[in-house]
Amino acid sequence: MGNNVKRLAILGSTGSIGRQTLDVARAFPDRLEVVALAAGNNAALLAEQASEFNPKFVSLTNGDFPSGVARLSIDEIAAHPDVDLVVVATAGKAGLSPTLAAIRAGKNVALANKEVLVMAGQIVMAKATKHGVEIYPVDSEHSAIWQCLVGEDRKSIRQIILTASGGPFRSLSPEELSKVIASDALKHPTWQMGRKVTIDSATLMNKGMEVIEAHWLFDVPVDRIKVLIHPESVIHSMVEYDDGSVKAQLGYPDMRLPIQYALSYPKRWYNEALPCIDFDQLKSFNFDRPDMANFPCLRLSIEAIEKGGTYPAVLSAADEVAVGLFLDGKIGLMDIPRLVEKALGAHRSMDNPTLEQILAADGWAREYIVSVV
Ligand code: MG
Repeated sequence: MGNNVKRLAILGSTGSIGRQTLDVARAFPDRLEVVALAAGNNAALLAEQASEFNPKFVSLTNGDFPSGVARLSIDEIAAHPDVDLVVVATAGKAGLSPTLAAIRAGKNVALANKEVLVMAGQIVMAKATKHGVEIYPVDSEHSAIWQCLVGEDRKSIRQIILTASGGPFRSLSPEELSKVIASDALKHPTWQMGRKVTIDSATLMNKGMEVIEAHWLFDVPVDRIKVLIHPESVIHSMVEYDDGSVKAQLGYPDMRLPIQYALSYPKRWYNEALPCIDFDQLKSFNFDRPDMANFPCLRLSIEAIEKGGTYPAVLSAADEVAVGLFLDGKIGLMDIPRLVEKALGAHRSMDNPTLEQILAADGWAREYIVSVV
């Protein structure tokens, strides 16, 4: 392997983003080497991926792994000297510890797991600065903002316009929303995603968390981040500058594009598998303001980051548990914001929390949601 081959560790390789990262790796065997794969539970798919990509190491959090590949913990994989770039494609809280392990080991991180920044954005970004590493966004909106910022001075940002598809239920009444079941919510109109992020998209919690994510990644105050509904999901986000100029990044809604950019940056690679936009077919773009009354998760997220402390960690943990209960058919869709709001109201936040205090708040919120359902 030559020096210009990037050696990847893919954490969460059996999930939606992980599988699409492997799709990109498959397209560029001379530029990307898959050195390590980590999964939570899906031993069968991990074994299949390992036999195709021949990683040096694998990690499986729960279960037995049949093959002869060396097994390490997910944090050991994230910090391993044979790895150049760590792709964090885990979901929920699981990404925090390996992200910090990668940063401490001086590795750049391609971050798809937004809860890491929602929980502990201040700590993660401060450690990245301290260790001289970059956090490359994989989330499509944040990749768009990142691409719009190339060559610009961040001091001249007037506002970030974060686009949102609005999810599958943007035109439903409150009565209709309260009757939504998991199988309806798992059908997203424009994106193929994992289960948690699909439900978060339906409640707009995903967009709320993305406001927090953008705030930390680009060091922009929350009141300069505007959410705009754009149902076509072709404009992935925009940046408005001091002179009134607006830059936007557009692309066919396919996660492999932002994933690939995080792997190819600062270059762009030709990938014949990536679809292009056909503007003649599109005809028009639509925009709308988000419905804050029907989708309280957006408001709750903004309130949580404005109050700061351990509130965003509670938001994230309460949502993770509530989404799990919804997927299991135990609560309704609109119980998710109700429960998250209840947890935020009952929480006693700590200012400038340490990692331990953040994890304690996370644990408290998980127990609280279970105790009130
Ligand atoms: Mg997104």
